Amino acid sequence: MLGSFAVGKTSLVQQYVNSIFSEKYLTSIGVKIDQKSLVYNNADITLLLWDIHGEDEFQKIPASYLKGSSGYFLIMDGTRINTLSIIEDIKKMADEVIGTDKPFIVLVNKVDLSDKWEFSDIMEKELSARNWRIIKTSAKTGEGIEEAFMELTKLMMA
Ligand code: GDP
Ligand code: MG
Repeated sequence: MLGSFAVGKTSLVQQYVNSIFSEKYLTSIGVKIDQKSLVYNNADITLLLWDIHGEDEFQKIPASYLKGSSGYFLIMDGTRINTLSIIEDIKKMADEVIGTDKPFIVLVNKVDLSDKWEFSDIMEKELSARNWRIIKTSAKTGEGIEEAFMELTKLMMA
């Protein structure tokens, strides 16, 4: 789970793994690893979900966090457009550390907050033109989350 502070990384994992949503997750230093089992193509798969617990938006993602990952989500907050440039920086870092061949999906989270929404169709087209797969999600309602993890699993198994 890669993205700026407070985009919803922890909330998305918790909604996917435990089907819960809380308005306040405690942020602490370190990495929390959750797991989720699913069946894909008649195979039992266990996803190990790495959720870094960042203190603030200036925290650097350690390279060791990326190494060994089979795929990743770049997560932005659709109500804070500056979180888009942060995933662009993180993508460059990921390309350097783990190469450009690992699958990833962009999650534009908090789609339930429609009155504060800043992510435009033009931005979406811009990202799609780079061949970036985009899924809009809400950790609050659960929208898009099953689809996102299933899609990334497919890409990782391809
Ligand atoms: P993280 O720092 O990326 O792990 O972000 P958190 O999961 O801690 O979420 C930051 C804040 O945004 C918390 O107050 C969450 O309750 C809230 N939040 C996360 N995802 C959503 C969402 O999809 N919709 C709404 N309305 N709030 C969200
Ligand atoms: Mg978190």
